[in-house]
Amino acid sequence: MILADCHMHSLFSGDSEAPLAEQAEAALAKGLETICITDHEDLFYPEIPDGPSDIFDLDIPAYQAAVRALRDQYAGKLNVRTGIELGLAPQALPSYRDILEKFHFDFVLGSIHVVDGYDIYYPDYWREHPGEQGLRRYFECMLEQIRAFDNFDSLSHLDYAARVLMDQDGNPVDRHYRFSDFSDVIDPVLRWVIDHDKALEVNTAGYKYGLGVPNPQPEVLSRYRELGGEKITIGSDGHRPEHIAYDFKRCEDLLTTLGFRYYWIYQDRTGTPVAF
Ligand SMILES: [Zn+2]
Ligand SMILES: [Zn+2]
Repeated sequence: MILADCHMHSLFSGDSEAPLAEQAEAALAKGLETICITDHEDLFYPEIPDGPSDIFDLDIPAYQAAVRALRDQYAGKLNVRTGIELGLAPQALPSYRDILEKFHFDFVLGSIHVVDGYDIYYPDYWREHPGEQGLRRYFECMLEQIRAFDNFDSLSHLDYAARVLMDQDGNPVDRHYRFSDFSDVIDPVLRWVIDHDKALEVNTAGYKYGLGVPNPQPEVLSRYRELGGEKITIGSDGHRPEHIAYDFKRCEDLLTTLGFRYYWIYQDRTGTPVAF
């Protein structure tokens, strides 16, 4: 059974209003033993229709103090870990190096939300690169970013772009892609993860958004296994209490079918395997 949710947000993220204690209560109600809060830090985030460009600048001292208080409040009931989700983008990497030198985290997620100066959640990106072109550009960008910055523990939602795939006019299009059409850009990412002893995150928000699969999709997870990848972390990416541990049972069934026997939990930037 999956007893840890290692990707979730709180009101310290620009796109969540959830108080930390409500996320913790939801985790307890789901029978979890461990949570890792991973609020967003997306520096040099572009202008978007929904808010100012500093919407994802994390107030790290305040955030860490609040997570520490939560940890103390739930001591003996729930393990609370301090994480961060770094949105990798070329200009932001020097600042992330400084942040990780200055502040201690248990767990660091690396993810890509912004490609070529666009948040891919919005149609402007897809106007430039419609459909699968945009998906391809996203994977290329991911490889560039991780080659430039390896100070994270788990690569988050590897095919997130598929979740928000749009055509030139910003209309959602079929969000299922064939791994074989992208293996030339995904394989190097998977190999990099394995060679650098990182974990690959299995993000269950894909279920929540009706994809029917987690991110990355099963073909990618299967390929990761085939290449020798074992290290995975699991997260709901919950922005609201009802999203915590979302479809974890379904995810576990998938992962065990694919041959995974353990998931990893991080503390002090060190991962420990836990059997399903
Ligand atoms: Zn993310
Ligand atoms: Zn997230």
